[in-house]
Amino acid sequence: MRYFAGTNFRMSRYPLSHAVVLGGSIAGLFAARVLSDHFAHVTIIERDGPFPAPEPRKGVPQGNHVHVLLARGRMIADALLPGLSDELLTLGAVQLNAGRDFAWHYAGGWRAQHDDGLVFLSMSRPLLESQIAKRIRALANVTVLNDVRIAGPLSGGSRITGVRVTQTGRSAQASEVEADLVVDATGRGSATPQWLAELGFPEPPRDLVGARVAYTSCTFHRGRDRSNHRALLVSGKPSRRNGVIFPIEGDRWLVGLQGFFDDPMPRDREDFQAYARSLAVPDLYEMIRDCEPLSEVKQYRFAGSLRHRYEQLSRLPEGLIVLGDAVCSFNPVYGQGMTVSALEAEILGGMLVRAKAEGGLSPDFARRWFKSIEPVIDAAWTGVLVEDFWLPELAEQRPLHLRPMQWYMDHVQRATHRSALATNQFYRVINFLDPPAKLFGPRMIAEVILAGFGGSGGNSASQKTPLRQPIHTSRAD
Ligand SMILES: Cc1cc2nc3c(=O)[nH]c(=O)nc-3n(C[C@H](O)[C@H](O)[C@H](O)COP(=O)(O)OP(=O)(O)OC[C@H]3O[C@@H](n4cnc5c(N)ncnc54)[C@H](O)[C@@H]3O)c2cc1C
Repeated sequence: MRYFAGTNFRMSRYPLSHAVVLGGSIAGLFAARVLSDHFAHVTIIERDGPFPAPEPRKGVPQGNHVHVLLARGRMIADALLPGLSDELLTLGAVQLNAGRDFAWHYAGGWRAQHDDGLVFLSMSRPLLESQIAKRIRALANVTVLNDVRIAGPLSGGSRITGVRVTQTGRSAQASEVEADLVVDATGRGSATPQWLAELGFPEPPRDLVGARVAYTSCTFHRGRDRSNHRALLVSGKPSRRNGVIFPIEGDRWLVGLQGFFDDPMPRDREDFQAYARSLAVPDLYEMIRDCEPLSEVKQYRFAGSLRHRYEQLSRLPEGLIVLGDAVCSFNPVYGQGMTVSALEAEILGGMLVRAKAEGGLSPDFARRWFKSIEPVIDAAWTGVLVEDFWLPELAEQRPLHLRPMQWYMDHVQRATHRSALATNQFYRVINFLDPPAKLFGPRMIAEVILAGFGGSGGNSASQKTPLRQPIHTSRAD
């Protein structure tokens, strides 16, 4: 590992010289992009090899499964990497209008649909990540070290000064990489809590919401028919089974089935069809019934949402921050993780602008970092709590203060069955375009009350446009 020996990134005209990002997945890549504006050099350390093709990789086993980049996440990605969406479309991603091309059956009803102008891109996770990685690699002051594993922190007193690394698969001696800032983006398995304990710092308290979810996914041939530019999601109580179908590059459908706790999941293609048929509505099954499967059935088990409360620590080392799933990994059925990573990158950018103006990173940068990202994580975390605590297995752990919120959100959900306005507002909030407070605004409350009285929601848009063409009546076959 001579690469590191004697490397000196210090350049006097930059107050900030070298940042090291641990983990080169979505959170690490977004962070590296932002850091590259403020540090003379950024090094990403990733234990997997480089992407030869946009295919699932070992370090990100969730890559086989449906990944939705929410609208706000896409907007940030395009701001950080101009032209990214166009590149993804050229590579086969499919643009969908949330209110028109996306049908969502939730808790016994279809959400009202109308053309709301809220667009998102549908593609495989590996396509998204590999294209972002390609753009980051092209940045002049970013180096990506692949096949390199982080072995531990370098520390001096109360400061993290870099990391020790080894080449993956070799027993070579560890090398040292020094840095002014270490950014841990190694995902759910992050070693930072353990490092803190080893260095004599307190470990962050952990919150676990133990809604275990099993994912099973398979790709199918989709064909080039434009009428297949649509997606469908079946979810919500009382059913404990979810199903999702999205068009992805390569003229494929990516179909995901999700079951909670110990629901027996399909292991082969035959079981897969049977499980799809058992969903609350037949639409997804009917879409894939006659399609040719293109992959084996892939599985993933998620052990529950996990949040490390770094913001509650009284003592933190200087020179180390944590982001992405390493701080909080959310129940993936709500599709929030990548967008939260993007929002965190945006916050990091703002903090680095201020740091630069102040002439460098202040000693309490890490403490301020965890406080700054807390509201974003809170917003996503609350969404997880409201939904997951409906599960009877978690009933005894349900916090009392959550009940009024669950009651109200239940009525919001019902309103979305009747009112396009309610659906649109709901979509804007879950896409991080509007703050959650918008769900409690006067117009939304009016929709909720009307839905409670069995009214139509009084929404002319929803009356003019057919709310939803049942997917099976518009099938291309
Ligand atoms: C089944 C599933 C479905 C999901 N669906 C969605 C979705 O629809 N929408 C959404 O926004 N999010 C979704 N997520 C969440 C999303 O995958 C993550 O939030 C997102 O990848 C950001 O995670 P991350 O970059 O922090 O960590 P990860 O993606 O886990 O990446 C961590 C990286 O660190 C590397 N690494 C780890 N340890 C080391 C080490 N010691 N040395 C070197 N490198 C190391 C790994 O190889 C990897 O590249 C889903 C998650 C799962 C599990």
